[in-house]
Amino acid sequence: MSRLADGREILFFDDAGTAERPPESLVDRRELPARPEPGQLRFDALSREWVAVAAHRQSRTHLPPADQCPICPTTPANQTEIPAPDYDVAVFENRFPSLGPATHDVPAAPDWGTTAPAVGRCEVVAFTPQHAGSFAELGWKRTRTVIDAWAHRTEALSALSGIQQVFPFENRGADIGVTLHHPHGQIYAYPYVTPRAAVLAAAAGEYFDHSDGTATLTSSLLQAERSDGSRMVLEGEHFSAYVPFAARWPLEVHLVPHRPVPDFAALNGAERDELAHLYLELLRRFDALYPTPTPYIAAWHQAPLEPAMRQAGQLHLQLTSPRRAADKLKYLAGSEAAMGAFINDTRPESVAARLRDVAGELAAVGIPAALAPAPLTPKGAPA
Ligand SMILES: [Zn+2]
Repeated sequence: MSRLADGREILFFDDAGTAERPPESLVDRRELPARPEPGQLRFDALSREWVAVAAHRQSRTHLPPADQCPICPTTPANQTEIPAPDYDVAVFENRFPSLGPATHDVPAAPDWGTTAPAVGRCEVVAFTPQHAGSFAELGWKRTRTVIDAWAHRTEALSALSGIQQVFPFENRGADIGVTLHHPHGQIYAYPYVTPRAAVLAAAAGEYFDHSDGTATLTSSLLQAERSDGSRMVLEGEHFSAYVPFAARWPLEVHLVPHRPVPDFAALNGAERDELAHLYLELLRRFDALYPTPTPYIAAWHQAPLEPAMRQAGQLHLQLTSPRRAADKLKYLAGSEAAMGAFINDTRPESVAARLRDVAGELAAVGIPAALAPAPLTPKGAPA
């Protein structure tokens, strides 16, 4: 770990086999203004949810030209957030964070009018030094490095005081609101359990208790989907992917480890190896559905850190896209945005069938055999 000119942490994760980089090549020589004051957390008494008020983010970098990209390697003409002439994967604290940089507990019994500094941590994960391209084009070795970086950051951020949940994610595509084209993701470490995670944790906890601690809900749903087969997309030895029975989004796939683990840090080497294959395969299939790249949100759900939610929770990916046709996006309007009541225009079984079918087309456009894992079409799926 080293520090950027304004004191933010930066970490480099190299692919297996990359030669060690001289430390003097990693010094940030910029003069940066002091870090902005943290934003504010306000408690919404109507919904009993925290809202982060981060007005300073309005000034953040928005779709800069490629020669001013802040996450490309540093050159004499463009001194970037990554003070290195080259890198494989880099993780650094966001210069315009919604949460942080301080970490500590938020008030335990908040009510109307309760505020707190917006504590927590927001990190940026640069997946590649290449400005153009996408995660799906990274290749297996680099993806494996990204998975190790996610695991490292999950463990380190989980250990910070006051952190309740660690959330690695990628927003891909300007349609999703991406403000930088360079392939990158983010990690948010929240000082509270987020509303969506709290709903999932409640369901998971109840199921776990009813099974006397013998089964997680995520694993049982995976088993049910595998024996049904009609919504399966990929089946591996350690991970499988399916379109959920009640998918909310026009494109939605859940990628689930067979072994119930709470987070990335708990995955073993063989699981990480296969995950790298299967995740790339999923992203390629998303992109193969339409003539242009598919916008998506890759949301890695990890068990919240509160002990009561820990055992029942399970790592899994929820990969979603609002794209409902080549030139049409689903917008969250009245029912979804105001009420959280989703109406999906696509049939989950048809989406799964399309995602199975594009595997053949991918092979046809020359995806290297080593990167396209062996046939993983589901056993029970109708032809
Ligand atoms: Zn760039």
